[in-house]
Amino acid sequence: MTDAVVVGSGPNGLAAAVTLARAGLQVRVYELAPSVGGGTRSAELTLPGFKHDVCSAVHPMALASPFFQAFELARRVELKVPEISYAHPLDNGQAGIAYRDLDRTASELGNDGEAYRRLFAPLLRRLDGMIDFTQHSLLRWPGDPLAALSFGLRVAEQGSLLSSLRFREQAAPAMMAGVSAHSTGKLPSLATAGAGILLGTLAHAGGWPVPVGGSQAIADALAEDLVQHGGEIVLNHRVTNLAELRAESGAALQLLDVSAKGLSDIAGEELPESYRRALGRFRYGNAACKVDFALSGPVPWANPELAFAPTLHLGGTRAELARSEAQVAAGQHPEQPYVLVSQPSPHDSSRAPLGSQVLWSYCHVPAGSSRDMTEAVIAQIERFAPGFRDLILASNVITAAEYQEYNPNYVSGDFSAGALNLAQILKRPVLSAKPWRTPVKGLYLCSSSTVPGPSVHGLCGWYAAQAALKDIFGLPAPDLSP
Ligand SMILES: Cc1cc2nc3c(=O)[nH]c(=O)nc-3n(C[C@H](O)[C@H](O)[C@H](O)COP(=O)(O)OP(=O)(O)OC[C@H]3O[C@@H](n4cnc5c(N)ncnc54)[C@H](O)[C@@H]3O)c2cc1C
Repeated sequence: MTDAVVVGSGPNGLAAAVTLARAGLQVRVYELAPSVGGGTRSAELTLPGFKHDVCSAVHPMALASPFFQAFELARRVELKVPEISYAHPLDNGQAGIAYRDLDRTASELGNDGEAYRRLFAPLLRRLDGMIDFTQHSLLRWPGDPLAALSFGLRVAEQGSLLSSLRFREQAAPAMMAGVSAHSTGKLPSLATAGAGILLGTLAHAGGWPVPVGGSQAIADALAEDLVQHGGEIVLNHRVTNLAELRAESGAALQLLDVSAKGLSDIAGEELPESYRRALGRFRYGNAACKVDFALSGPVPWANPELAFAPTLHLGGTRAELARSEAQVAAGQHPEQPYVLVSQPSPHDSSRAPLGSQVLWSYCHVPAGSSRDMTEAVIAQIERFAPGFRDLILASNVITAAEYQEYNPNYVSGDFSAGALNLAQILKRPVLSAKPWRTPVKGLYLCSSSTVPGPSVHGLCGWYAAQAALKDIFGLPAPDLSP
C-alpha cells in the first residue's frame, strides 16, 4: 500500500519523499526523466570522461539549509569548500575576490574595504537569524527580529539607488551586482538585492561549496536514503492527471514537485476556481542559456588568482551588468551578457580526465529564447582570459527553450519556476503562511514555485512534507540524520 506519492525527483521532491519515508509512510516518487535529480543532475554533456552539472553547480544554499543540516549532507557527500567563494574579474587583470575570510576580502578592496566589511559583518554575527528569516515565509514573525531588520535595511540600500553611495571604486559594487544577478531581474531592485545580500553573506560564512562528483551526488544521497527507508522511485513516468494518480497509487497524500502551472494542469478542475485563477496570475521570469565546455587545460585567467575561484561573475562593472540585465528584461539578447561561470575542476579531479577541465557557464536570456549564446559567452570569457578559445575541446549548449523540454518546471526556461520579484517572494505561489497547502485535502505543492523559492536547499519539500504529516497523519517532523 502506498501512503504518499511525490511527483518529481528534484531536490525538493526528494527532500519531501525522504521526510515522509522517515516518518514511517510508504512513499513512491514518480519522475518523468530517466534519472533522479531534477536540477541536481550531472552528465557527460560534451566528451566521454567529462562530467558536467546539467543545472545547479555551486551550493551555498545547500550548505546553509536547515533541511540539509538535519539530513547531515556534509557526512554523505564530500563538499569541497574553497577559500575563495566567488570572484569578479574586471578589465586589466583586476578582480574583486570574495574570500571566506571577510577581513581578507575587505583588505583587498582598497578604499571600499571598510564599507564592504560593514555591509556584511553585522549579518555574519546574526547568521542563524538571517537564514531563519530568509528561508521561511516572510509572512511569519522572524525568530530574530534584529537579524531580519539588519537584512532588510541592507536589501533596501543595495536594492535602490542608495547602493551607489556606499562604494567609491569599481570592484566592490561590481561584486555586489554580480552576486545579486544570480536572481534574474533588474539591477538594482529589492528582489535581486535580497539574493545578493544573502549569497554575499554566505560567501563569508560556510562558503560556496562544490560537491565532489557533481551535483548528482546530492540527488543520489537523497535517493539512497529514500530507498533505505522503504521508498520506491518510478522513472520515465510523467504524471498528467491527479485523479489517475490517486486511482493508480491509492495514496492519501500527493506532493507535487512541479511548477505552479504544472499543479494547475495536473489537478485541473479539482482546484477551486479562485485558487486556479491565483495560480494563473503567477508569473514566470526570464531564462538561461547554458554552455558547458570540455577544456584541454586550466582557463588562462588574466588574473592568476582566479584559477582557484569556484564561481566567477563575468560582465564587467556594475553599470555594464545593469545594462545587460536591463536588455534581457526588455526582451533582448545582450551582446555582452552577464555570465555566471563555475570551474569545479581545480577542486574536484573526478570531473575530467587528468590535465583537462570542465567549465560550466550560463547567461541570462529572454523567456522562451531559442538562441544559442555560445559565441557571446566565449567572448565574455576571452575578455578576462585571453586564449580561452584555444583550450576548447568541445562545448554543449542548452537554450532556454530546450530547458523547458528537459524539465517542465522551467517554464519558458525560467529555472526559478516563477519570477523572483518582490510580490512573488511574498505570494509564492499564493499569499499564505503555509503556501505548500492547496485547497484540496491531501494535495501539496513542494517545488521552488513555493516559499522559499529556487536553489538547492530542499526546504520547499521539507516544509510541504512537514505540513502534510501534521495535517493528514498528525505526525511530527522525523529525525533525518544518517
Ligand atoms: C542552469 C541552472 C543553473 C543553476 N544553478 C544553481 C546553483 O548553482 N545552485 C543552486 O542552488 N541552484 C541552482 N539552480 C536552481 C536549482 O537547480 C533549482 O532551484 C532546484 O533544482 C529546484 O528544485 P525543485 O525540486 O523545486 O525542482 P527541479 O529540480 O526542477 O525538479 C523537478 C523534477 O520534477 C520532474 N517533473 C516535473 N513535472 C513532472 C511530471 N508531470 N511528472 C513527473 N515528473 C515531473 C522534473 O523532471 C524534475 O526532475 C540552477 C538551475 C539551472 C537550470
